[in-house]
Amino acid sequence: MLGRLRAESVPGLSIRGKLDQSDEGKPALDLAGGHKIALHGDEPTLGVLNDKRIAGVDLEAIGHYTTPTSFEVDPIHLKSMFVHKENRKLLITYWCEVCYIRTYTPGVCWCCQKYTDLDLRPANEP
Ligand SMILES: [Zn+2]
Repeated sequence: MLGRLRAESVPGLSIRGKLDQSDEGKPALDLAGGHKIALHGDEPTLGVLNDKRIAGVDLEAIGHYTTPTSFEVDPIHLKSMFVHKENRKLLITYWCEVCYIRTYTPGVCWCCQKYTDLDLRPANEP
């Protein structure tokens, strides 16, 4: 629901490429044509970008360039990162199957302290 609203109504530059985590703690996006763009964002956003479970994915990020080679991803609550997989656009979420609590950055569930599972969900569905 939010994913659809975001995609249709909010202007923002979208860049897409391969998520490059080769430089520890400094995520980047390898764009077509060999351009490597450093990704920045708020703490939860960086938590996602540094999550090893999504290393190398086909990632779309929405935000703006701060320099020609660095890109600031919009704040986490705007849901500005998507994985493209098999022609589907997936929102990156985290899920606690014990408490049925969804979060948007990796870490422990605030309720039961279990480490949350990565859960990629279709961006156009609630
Ligand atoms: Zn939990």
